[in-house]
Amino acid sequence: MEQTRKCPSCGGTMIFQPGFNSLRCQSCGHKEVIPELVSKIPVNEMDFLTAQNTASHDWGMETKVVTCKNCGAETIQNKLQLSGMCPFCGSTTVEAADPAQDMMAPNGIIPFKITENRALYIFKDWIKDRFLAPELLAQDAKLNKFYGIYVPLFTFDVLTENRFTGRYSEDGRTLLRCGKFRHQVDDFPVVASKQLASDKLLLNVMKDYWTKEAKPYTPDALAGFPCEHYSIGLNEAWNSVGPDMDFYLKNEAGKQGLTRYLKELDMTTEYFDLKYKYLIVPVWINSFYYDNKLYTIVINGQTGKIDGQWPKSFGTFAKKAALFFLGSFGLD
Ligand SMILES: [Zn+2]
Ligand SMILES: [Zn+2]
Repeated sequence: MEQTRKCPSCGGTMIFQPGFNSLRCQSCGHKEVIPELVSKIPVNEMDFLTAQNTASHDWGMETKVVTCKNCGAETIQNKLQLSGMCPFCGSTTVEAADPAQDMMAPNGIIPFKITENRALYIFKDWIKDRFLAPELLAQDAKLNKFYGIYVPLFTFDVLTENRFTGRYSEDGRTLLRCGKFRHQVDDFPVVASKQLASDKLLLNVMKDYWTKEAKPYTPDALAGFPCEHYSIGLNEAWNSVGPDMDFYLKNEAGKQGLTRYLKELDMTTEYFDLKYKYLIVPVWINSFYYDNKLYTIVINGQTGKIDGQWPKSFGTFAKKAALFFLGSFGLD
């Protein structure tokens, strides 16, 4: 199977069409539904302990790894495609190499639902009332362009056994409660992109996927869209769940009738039967420099949730422009 699909009626290039689970020919408009994306087959849960031996390394196409020399982001692209621009920082200084032997391939995908036009609409609505929005939009054409990319996301299923000691004070006496409960965790998400996981606002957008809608991986969904290579590996991802998992499990403890004890609840957790899925999930991304600082805005390609940083102050560029404006009226 190859990812740059040729149109059967005219030989043109077919690319993935967000929202339609299909490929569309850019020349004649011929459409083909991608069977995997409309199937009811669930994405396999993979065994964590044997991942090294059982994970797939087959992307279903000839791949290359494109590394950005500016920000270090790595994307995986079809070998036949031109390596263009880095979606994370806009740099065109990129370098392509063959993938490493042990580079895992995803076993599931959430296809793009939000189209590029819809993404632009969501963005313009989001910045509407923000500082400098009209000036920046008029001045920087790049701001009017979003790039679609798939980003790696690991999800974990695990059975937990939790032992707790809770304390609660009432009318001058302290109530104590000890016990244990079991809880099966389902699809606990960890974003495997350092670029996006390091920012709280971006991370909120990235944790907003309905993972139940994931489909078995198919390279056809990557026609026209690059995919970021995970910069946080499977082990590292699982080792990083600690604080988030504690928070989640304490919330579950509340549902076990422990609400009153939550303030002073000590809990230890044992994990059993750890499973994972390696999903790639869709993001529309826009990066721009303002006053020498990189700003990144992301839109969840499935749900349309948007967030990111936006300049809060007048940068040097705007100051210069303002001075020039005053100068041109001979006021200086
Ligand atoms: Zn065609
Ligand atoms: Zn970059």
